Amino acid sequence: MNGFKYCFGPVGSWRLGVSLGIDPVSRPEKICDFDCVYCQVGHAVPAPPSRAVYVNPEALGAELAVFNAPADYVTFSGRGEPTLAANLSELLAECGRHRGEKTAILTNASLIYSEKVREELGAFDFVIAKLDAPDSGLFKEINRPADGLCFGEIVEGLTLFSKGRHNRLAIQTMLTARNKARVLELAALYAAIAPDEIQLNTPLRPCAEKALTRAEMDLAALIISEELRRLNSGGIKVLNVYEQKAPKPLPISSADTLRRRGKI
Ligand code: SF4
Repeated sequence: MNGFKYCFGPVGSWRLGVSLGIDPVSRPEKICDFDCVYCQVGHAVPAPPSRAVYVNPEALGAELAVFNAPADYVTFSGRGEPTLAANLSELLAECGRHRGEKTAILTNASLIYSEKVREELGAFDFVIAKLDAPDSGLFKEINRPADGLCFGEIVEGLTLFSKGRHNRLAIQTMLTARNKARVLELAALYAAIAPDEIQLNTPLRPCAEKALTRAEMDLAALIISEELRRLNSGGIKVLNVYEQKAPKPLPISSADTLRRRGKI
């Protein structure tokens, strides 16, 4: 079976090792309430920040039953924002019926202000949440969110989630020329949110934004680490994409599926 609609990969991830992808908002078009300037799955007017059912749990289960590839993580991500799936918990439960691996979710954190969404994120083993800007102006410039999404509420939601969680939390930041001079302010937010780790990325796959060089990323990582130490948050690990290695598993899903999700 090569025509998987909801499962993709497995792919090699510098953050997750071998990762079997699940797309809970699988559609031919992107379903996301951001339209980040560096988005690698294509640009579109951001979807309204309201949830809907996109994938039937039984249909996902039917794919998982024949998706026979080992992985380190089963990861909810793909062509859009996974928390826009109103049945996220049901889809996660369906995964649990078929797979024994740890679970992860890559989220843009747009809905983390909602208590229900925070509760649902709490059921994953590892949450990787996006934060690219230290204020509303740069948030709007980089992430180009749907109307109604508020930067302050997202940061508050991230902080509340971090305080109440029992799972692992990473904040991921895509660094480009737009935000590289703002890393001190970002470090102050990281310290306030208090995740387990910070994942510093830069757009290494083809997109409209230019990647920072290794030297620029090393400098950003150093400034952030030192500022975190100064703020008594030196226990937060800082990862730099240039220093990480990803495994190279053989994907079962077709190259076309991976391409649609910006994975190759
Ligand atoms: S949050 Fe992810 S999918 Fe959505 S626009 Fe940004 S990069 Fe693209």
